[in-house]
Amino acid sequence: MIDRATGLLAGVRQVLSPHCDERPAGTVPELLVVHGISLPPGEFCGPWIDRLFTGTLPADVHPYFKEIEGLVASAHALIRRDGQIVQYVPFGARAWHAGRSEYQGRSACNDFSIGIELEGADGTPYTEPQYGALVALVATLLAAYPSLSCAAIAGHSDVAPGRKTDPWQVFDWPRFRTLLKERLAAQ
Ligand SMILES: [Zn+2]
Repeated sequence: MIDRATGLLAGVRQVLSPHCDERPAGTVPELLVVHGISLPPGEFCGPWIDRLFTGTLPADVHPYFKEIEGLVASAHALIRRDGQIVQYVPFGARAWHAGRSEYQGRSACNDFSIGIELEGADGTPYTEPQYGALVALVATLLAAYPSLSCAAIAGHSDVAPGRKTDPWQVFDWPRFRTLLKERLAAQ
């Protein structure tokens, strides 16, 4: 499902972002970072996440867009409310999702991580299809990149505490871990 040569997922919508670069020499993905995002915050299913990650978000459409004008960000993939996956950055490349961050004493998580966004908002539970798609995507990534591990999966809030709160308390980590374990056991 992932072409290792290109770092692209087969069968998903690709909206390639210019907001990425190469990982430092010799660095491989070792961490998965789970995020939550919606644009504007709390509104789902619009075109705006694609636009943010491709640097084409029109600042005049919403006051919040004005607030984040000039923000240059991306993630490797987004899982929408219906479970549809969109890929923005090849997994081998460095996406710009974690910002100032640290995982187990190692800073600059973008260098060695893969960032997955879930379309969501604080206080709104994620959907069944999102958990299903996330588990399938993570299982695929674990198979394609042996440097990853199911022990090294963190939330943005875990790697940037005090600065970031996504994917928020509504992300059900025990449920995700149980589903992932079941999925990996069934392979
Ligand atoms: Zn985040």
